[in-house]
Amino acid sequence: QKKSKDNLRCPVVCVLGHVDTGKTKILDKIRRTNVQDGEAGGITQQIGASFFPIDAITEKTRPVMELHKVEYNVPGLLIIDTPGHESFTNLRTRGSSLCDLAVLVVDIMHGLEPQTIESIGLLKKRRAPFVIALNKIDRLYGWEPHPELPVQQALEMQADSVKAEFQQRYDFAVRQLQEQGLNACVFYENQDVRTFLNVVPTSAISGDGMMDLLFLLSTLPAKMLIDKIMYHENLECTVLEVKAIEGLGTTMDVIVVNGKLKEKQKIVVCGLEGPIVTQIRSLLTPQPMKEMRVKTPYIHHQEIKGAIGVKICANGIERALAGSNLYVVGEDDDEEELKDEVMKDLGGILKKVKKNEDGVYVQASTLGSLEALLEFLERPGEDRDGNPNPPIPVSGIGIGPVSKYDVMRCGVMLEREREWEAYACILAFDVPVLPDAERSAKEIGIPIYTAEIIYHLFDAFTKRVADIKA
Ligand code: GDP
Ligand code: MG
Repeated sequence: QKKSKDNLRCPVVCVLGHVDTGKTKILDKIRRTNVQDGEAGGITQQIGASFFPIDAITEKTRPVMELHKVEYNVPGLLIIDTPGHESFTNLRTRGSSLCDLAVLVVDIMHGLEPQTIESIGLLKKRRAPFVIALNKIDRLYGWEPHPELPVQQALEMQADSVKAEFQQRYDFAVRQLQEQGLNACVFYENQDVRTFLNVVPTSAISGDGMMDLLFLLSTLPAKMLIDKIMYHENLECTVLEVKAIEGLGTTMDVIVVNGKLKEKQKIVVCGLEGPIVTQIRSLLTPQPMKEMRVKTPYIHHQEIKGAIGVKICANGIERALAGSNLYVVGEDDDEEELKDEVMKDLGGILKKVKKNEDGVYVQASTLGSLEALLEFLERPGEDRDGNPNPPIPVSGIGIGPVSKYDVMRCGVMLEREREWEAYACILAFDVPVLPDAERSAKEIGIPIYTAEIIYHLFDAFTKRVADIKA
């Protein structure tokens, strides 16, 4: 089957931004208003993502579609909503990123914040198109909600003082974006989407701008991504998360962007100790809301087609790595070649690690976030005087929650000479610490620094070095 404009897949969207800007609330808001609409047009919950069919989006966004006289040509949107996968780093596969399109949420009362700037850096690097949701407009003093109107009209209805405050805060955000090398413009005045980033004012509390956000996400792909979202059969699949589920054993949550997966297929994924070859035992998606009374929480599928989020049950995947690509070993495929292919990401990452030398132990949620962390530690920016910060060497890595095993591996640094004492610690980015890991870290005296912002780990380590010297 040839790629064509008549056979588009859903664009995969992710939401990112600084903590507390309203990422979760925005997802909740667009999900709930759609769920309330009942069965037919409603959204479906998938693994790690929500699917918004275009009919439901059309229903919700009619006023803004009419205002702009635009029709949609995508079949819907697949919005990634796995908690803990809010940093875009986690969602990239080699050479490309899993997300076609991103929403960068900015709190209108705060403007750009550290994680916003970090996200911008990543989005630029991956050349991913994105829109800015300038959120919490309901906090403008005296804001009157009009969620039933396009946000442009809702703004026109506001008192002059509200309009003035909006303008002032909006201008400030636009200036801050300019300092990051980005031209931005409110979307309904944007004449040139290739030069100007679209800004959409939103409130996840009052619902203002929610239809505009959905509208933008549904129209932008046709302008910027049409080639990328033409469906094709070549499998593009990324592991989002590996976790144990009661009654199912260890499972892998994956996003299939393109192509199909079938039960019983032989697959290969990347593991910390080497490639993992196994067989798909089952392919699962959650039961729809209204079926919640049914005993089993999952629907079994013999075959699924991208773009979709599914859970894979298979043997031997305990050490599979989140962020890994997933390949199917077909009859004509060379298994060894695919094994090499799937390990390439990790290989690139391991090159940055000085095994058996002195350095800290780092832990991250996925291959992508680990790579971002290692890149940062190699060149950790500049200090206040503009001098480059010294790199932090790394001697060991882990992916997923910090386990006792990681603490033990880091523990060997304690046996090194005193001058390297500072390296005997774990820098954990965007991952939880398991209770027994915490216990044994205390016992042997390994501090674990956790953070959701990469450079906070740098700060923690810098402070540790200073404390030890003092
Ligand atoms: P996240 O960390 O980006 O996922 O942020 P959350 O969605 O958890 O929101 C952080 C806080 O901001 C919560 O208390 C939300 O209720 C609040 N919040 C989120 N969106 C809005 C908004 O549009 N308006 C107002 N007033 N509060 C909001
Ligand atoms: Mg959140």
